[in-house]
Amino acid sequence: MTDAATRRLHFTLEATALSSSARAARFTTRHNEVLTPTFMPVGTHAAVRSQRREDLLESGAQVLLANTYHLLLRPGIEIFQKFGGIHAFMNWPRSVLTDSGGYQIFSLPGSRTLHEEHAEFTSYVDNTVIRLSPERSIEAQKAIGADIMMVLDQCVPSTVEHSVARGAMQVTHRWAHRSLAARGDSMQALFGIVQGASYADLRIESAQTIVQIPFDGYAIGGLAVGESSAQREDCTAMVTELLPQDRPRYLMGVGTTRDLLEAVHRGVDMFDCILPTSLAKQGVAFTSLGRRDLRRAAYRGMEGPIDPACSCYTCKTYSIAYLFHLQRVHETTGWQLLGLHNIHFYMQLMRTMRAHILAGTWLPFYHAQRGLLDARDSYGKAATHVTRAARRAAKHKRGRYEVIVKDEVGYIRDMTSGEVMHLGEDPEQEARSLYVEQSRLVERLQAPSDEPLVVWDVGLGAAANAMAAILAAENSSSESTARRLILVSFENDLDSLKLALDHPRWFKHLRHAAPRALLSENRWINGTSAIEWCLLRGDFAARKFDAPAPDIIFFDPFSFRTDSALWTLPAFRELAQACSQKPAELFTYTYSTSVRAAMLAGGFYVAKGRGTGPKAETTIGLSPSAAATPHGHELLGQEWLAKWRRSDAQAPFGSAPDDVSWHEAVLQHPQFRT
Ligand SMILES: [Zn+2]
Repeated sequence: MTDAATRRLHFTLEATALSSSARAARFTTRHNEVLTPTFMPVGTHAAVRSQRREDLLESGAQVLLANTYHLLLRPGIEIFQKFGGIHAFMNWPRSVLTDSGGYQIFSLPGSRTLHEEHAEFTSYVDNTVIRLSPERSIEAQKAIGADIMMVLDQCVPSTVEHSVARGAMQVTHRWAHRSLAARGDSMQALFGIVQGASYADLRIESAQTIVQIPFDGYAIGGLAVGESSAQREDCTAMVTELLPQDRPRYLMGVGTTRDLLEAVHRGVDMFDCILPTSLAKQGVAFTSLGRRDLRRAAYRGMEGPIDPACSCYTCKTYSIAYLFHLQRVHETTGWQLLGLHNIHFYMQLMRTMRAHILAGTWLPFYHAQRGLLDARDSYGKAATHVTRAARRAAKHKRGRYEVIVKDEVGYIRDMTSGEVMHLGEDPEQEARSLYVEQSRLVERLQAPSDEPLVVWDVGLGAAANAMAAILAAENSSSESTARRLILVSFENDLDSLKLALDHPRWFKHLRHAAPRALLSENRWINGTSAIEWCLLRGDFAARKFDAPAPDIIFFDPFSFRTDSALWTLPAFRELAQACSQKPAELFTYTYSTSVRAAMLAGGFYVAKGRGTGPKAETTIGLSPSAAATPHGHELLGQEWLAKWRRSDAQAPFGSAPDDVSWHEAVLQHPQFRT
């Protein structure tokens, strides 16, 4: 790679997710800094359909895509030359990426002829014959003033024969060299394009050839043209593996929100797609509650915004019923308002993905969203199912929570943050595996002792963990049961348990007398008094001082996104203090680097917990006296410490900027002394 190429975009790779190719990066064009992963709204004719530039700026759009083919025909290159480029012409202060025109030449109706030298097509504006060569395309893109230009390529449908695909690919490679030569020493960036239709051998050959040419970035072209999403994902993964780490990667023309999630997971940084605005025109909104089709009569009188979790202008200002009405009377304002929301939702999704990659929480986020986005991103028949599911869910709400049902199992979703508890794993099974089995609860109850075994259940939720403990204790209990169980649940908002109790069909573990007794009496004691379950309502931070010191902690609140106060360094310091007198063990579902650092700095020893559902690992905290006795857990070692030192998520949540004592506390932690 030449110095000039590095100079053009100043690309910096900031983080790559664990067990995933997802990456966060940044680069700088002549107009602004671009943070990736990023989505580029499509401004075909130097305008995003129905959207004002102010709204695009407000949405956080960093790059707009414009189509060279269309701009060549109208307004024509001389207009851009007169105005000094597209930025001045449309008064757009941020970056612009232009495609080369290749895709349109090959995909739009009308006659065209391909030669080695150029492509020839008939203008749909005035029927004149236009020749587009790699040199002419670059000349046009230079005049348009794009920050990022694309090489001219030959696109073929993904279904063509191997020999045709191979021929088009070879022309694309030769045109790539000609495009780079035509760019010359212009400071405009230029991306190469990997082609090869749906043939793995051709995709590999194309990627290996194109990366030999020193482009500023690399694109995957010719997808989203008829292949299945599985084919596209396989192809994307295969190609990104061959692309250099230190250049942006752009998947052209893709796609739905689920497609974006899958492609980010496979290492793509940049996207464009017309769907947010084109589907808006059809009355379809992407929302955190699912994909909503406003043509459905169910929305006719519905109050509230189209997406309760969205902060866009449309959601702040209008009800679903009003948007439904605008759609029904074909009012263009409806199209515009829905497009605004959709673009906002896409941009917000990209920012959230980036935040999770940087925070080291990508994989759980990916797996959770995958289920959600999949349910909403369906066309046709499946869409009916989604809407019905969304409607059914709308009936099942209480306070800030709602019930989501998947395969006859209920999940609690926090509507303010959008977070779903235990998604990706059956909650009952996760409760048994992560909390009951890992803590060896039954064995410990069977070991004779005069002292009761105290279990703290932090984040009662729908009581999945508490009930798993109670059922395990009941099943193991016999005359010989030697030790009492005191289970203390902490919860500040009981709506989730109340909501789950209203739906015993989907929360089977609640078919028991204990949960209702707990709600009405704050306490439930079994027949033999061997099991006592108490509820401490209110903030855990304050109520934990009212409970006997724990032997075991099930630490299962919502994540930092929802229950931020519970995951901070000060919170773990207090928790470690509460555990300091006993050999106590804490079990939690996260394996975030930042949380582990907070636990270490807070005074716990930290070990790897077993994986569950989508999570490869979870986390166990041990009090110093627990660490000093045989425990059978695998403590984090030098390998983790080295990873932490390289991580962007070093700092524990909630640590004050001027207090870096945690840094030494982690580095000097006795568990890393060998
Ligand atoms: Zn919105």
